[in-house]
Amino acid sequence: MQRIITKLVFVIIILIPAISFGSKLNLNTAILYFDSIKNNNTILIRYSSILISIIFTLYIISIVRRFILKRKTNKILEKEIEEHKKTAQSLKISQERFDLAMKGSNDGIWDRDLVNSTVFYSERWKSMLGFIDSEFPNNIKSFEDRIHPDDMEKVMNTFHNHLDKKTNYYENKFRIKHKDGHYIWIHDRGKAIFNEENKPIRIVGTHTDITEKQNSEEKLYQYQIELEEKVKERTDELLKAKEKAEESDRLKSAFLANMSHEIRTPMNAIIGFSDLLIDPDLNSFQKQELIKHINKSSNTLVYLIDDIIDIAKIEAGQLKINKSECNINQILADVCESFFETSNLKSNELVKLKLMKGIQNDNFTINTDPVRFQQILINLIGNALKYTEKGLIECGYKVKTDKNISFIEFYVKDTGIGIPKDKHDHIFERFSKVEDSKTKLYRGTGLGLTITKNLVEMLNGKIWLESEENVGSTFYFTIPVVEFKGLKVNEQEKDYNIKNWENNTILIAEDEDSNYRVLQMALKRTNVNILRAENGKQAIEICKANKKINLVLMDIKMPELNGIEATIEIKKARPDLPIIAQTAYAMQDDEEKTIEAGCIDYLCKPIKTSVLISTLNKYL
Ligand code: ADP
Repeated sequence: MQRIITKLVFVIIILIPAISFGSKLNLNTAILYFDSIKNNNTILIRYSSILISIIFTLYIISIVRRFILKRKTNKILEKEIEEHKKTAQSLKISQERFDLAMKGSNDGIWDRDLVNSTVFYSERWKSMLGFIDSEFPNNIKSFEDRIHPDDMEKVMNTFHNHLDKKTNYYENKFRIKHKDGHYIWIHDRGKAIFNEENKPIRIVGTHTDITEKQNSEEKLYQYQIELEEKVKERTDELLKAKEKAEESDRLKSAFLANMSHEIRTPMNAIIGFSDLLIDPDLNSFQKQELIKHINKSSNTLVYLIDDIIDIAKIEAGQLKINKSECNINQILADVCESFFETSNLKSNELVKLKLMKGIQNDNFTINTDPVRFQQILINLIGNALKYTEKGLIECGYKVKTDKNISFIEFYVKDTGIGIPKDKHDHIFERFSKVEDSKTKLYRGTGLGLTITKNLVEMLNGKIWLESEENVGSTFYFTIPVVEFKGLKVNEQEKDYNIKNWENNTILIAEDEDSNYRVLQMALKRTNVNILRAENGKQAIEICKANKKINLVLMDIKMPELNGIEATIEIKKARPDLPIIAQTAYAMQDDEEKTIEAGCIDYLCKPIKTSVLISTLNKYL
């Protein structure tokens, strides 16, 4: 480069003056100039030549400098262009990346100029609302008009909070109206740009359609609420069950303690009075007195066992209802009569029992279970008598109609100790007793009302009570009036009279000596001939061998062969021989089983002499 410039300067020094002179001076002057140089004639020419050379040299230098400068500038420009190109390229890549990201995220863009109050919505932003680009005007109002009224305040507050620099960025979730009219959920996010005075001048953001996510979240939330409710319900149930179990446990313990008391009391009387009976010095009146006590206590025990069996049957779903024609007035009168006979009503001046017939016609009958109906009355009147020291016990009924359904509403009203209000709900629960140890100890197992309630419900009725402490109680129960449509059975009059059966022979199949003795003694006055079999096998053999036997009293639970199997076998050989089952079994449809086997009747132990005689009277 240096060499080129030197050469160039040399050429310029030599040629440029000539060219210059060639162009600027005429030929003569040039010749003169060359001549003068040649001849070195004049100083002027010499100086002017030097001056011209200097001028031209400077000129050349300036051109060269300009050339160098231009080259330098060009290089800088080239570099700048190169950088610009690179910037443009990376901007393009960045834009493409942004576009791709936006397309990928499926978000819409909005850009608000806060100074000029203009706005830009991207195509995707508009399509989210169901519009094509040209359909949706680019202004704020069109957007704000579509925000759900309930979300408006929140949207505005969040937006202005960000513009007031209270938040680093703007974010919101709200509902906005779609072109079709339904609302979609939007997740709106943005960031504002502020000028030097901290005034917002622009805000840019994105819209994400989160309708599906929001709906799922809402569903999830609903499920969560439902789940929480269910968990709460279940927890409450479990708590109640736990409380009930604890209560039941407490009741059971109380029941066992009570039961022990209830069994020991009559047993104590039976054992005590039996011991006293041995005394040879007792006169017949004293003996009668003791026997009465023994009898009473034995009956108490039997009632207790009956209650326990009934509860067990109810809980096992084995208690059966046998509906038949049921004479209401007759049963009520019988029950009241039996209480009059058995309790101390006769001698007690302080308590009166009164029966109020709702219907005077004594032939009024309904179709229900007479045994269970009687049991309900006995339980309620028995309680009224037990818990009433003085006053009146009234028992009656009224026929009522509700929604065209007729029913009888019975009541047993007393003027006894009453039941506190907070105990009314529990009174029908198993083993529940209202403790009143302060005044008097009332005996009882707490089973009677549970059995009564179950029986009433099995007869399709309802039971409830009204009671006030120290005033009295009234127990109500209903039974539907259903007309009896079956064949009217003329109940055979029971014959308790002892007859002379000396021409009859009966076989008693009984393995227990004491039970056999009771039957033998009960039948002594009838003069009947008695044979004994100690098991089922013997019973069959004796019946087959002795044709004189004209009735069998068959125990069911016996060794070798039980009473059912023995009955079946005997019936095969002697189909006309009447066999009466006598058993202590009280569960699992015992009566039905014996009848199926061929027994003609059924006696439940303990067997009262009167019941035994009246039953035998039917067949001998
Ligand atoms: P219990 O064998 O103890 O009488 P119940 O189930 O028949 O059993 O009665 C439960 C409890 O209800 C009784 O212990 C008693 O506290 C109360 N009760 C029942 N009937 C009456 C009544 N007529 N007057 C007062 N309390 C009664």
